Amino acid sequence: MDQDSVEALGRLLEEARRIFVFTGAGVSTGSNIPDFRGPKGVYKERPPVYFQEFVASERARSEYWAFKAEGYRAFRDAEPNPAHHALVTLEKLGKLNLVATQNVDGLHQRAGTSSDLLVELHGTNLAVECIECRRRETPDRCMQEFEATAQPPRCPACDGWMKPAVVMFGQALDPSRLGKAQSCSRSADLVLALGSSLVVTPAADLPLAGVRAGAKYVIINQGATPHDRLATLRIDGDVVDYLATAVGRL
Ligand SMILES: [Zn+2]
Repeated sequence: MDQDSVEALGRLLEEARRIFVFTGAGVSTGSNIPDFRGPKGVYKERPPVYFQEFVASERARSEYWAFKAEGYRAFRDAEPNPAHHALVTLEKLGKLNLVATQNVDGLHQRAGTSSDLLVELHGTNLAVECIECRRRETPDRCMQEFEATAQPPRCPACDGWMKPAVVMFGQALDPSRLGKAQSCSRSADLVLALGSSLVVTPAADLPLAGVRAGAKYVIINQGATPHDRLATLRIDGDVVDYLATAVGRL
């Protein structure tokens, strides 16, 4: 780690009172969650199923459930890492405006980030929901049913199709989640973009709302991002190491 960067990060965190945090896959790779879109991402080998195909085709539904069932145990057993815990520390220090995450692993919630300070932009793998009546439950029943029968599970209330409560390709982000994140970004005095390549819009535009309103901007990511020239502090490195070290010194 570059010590000047750790110290600069520490100073910005020390001064900040209202931090908007935007997290991506790089925050979760330290918890052994695969990065789906990165250079070695799962999607490079296995094209995603679109929501419209899921609705229209039995084959697509089976393919999607098989993909989700494969990854389910890894998600269920993953543990939060020091980056997730560092964000809980910022909350306890009263410095946190919001955590808006692109991740669907539920690890911010599991680490202890309060639900009113957390927006899961792309949903969560820790729940399944009916595409018709939106009934939600934990995934166990559906996963067991799919593994036993290889049939995509149906809703016990309305017989609609169940699916993991994540935003699929071809589905829009929830406007109320997006709106809350935008407003918390705009009212922030510091924006942290952590472990995201900042290319998947509209989510990746969220930090810019705060930056345009005058917030300082820290980007920690391995590899370049399209926002780099806007950053007050740009760290190319492991977000878990940098964030946990700087927050640990507060
Ligand atoms: Zn239903």
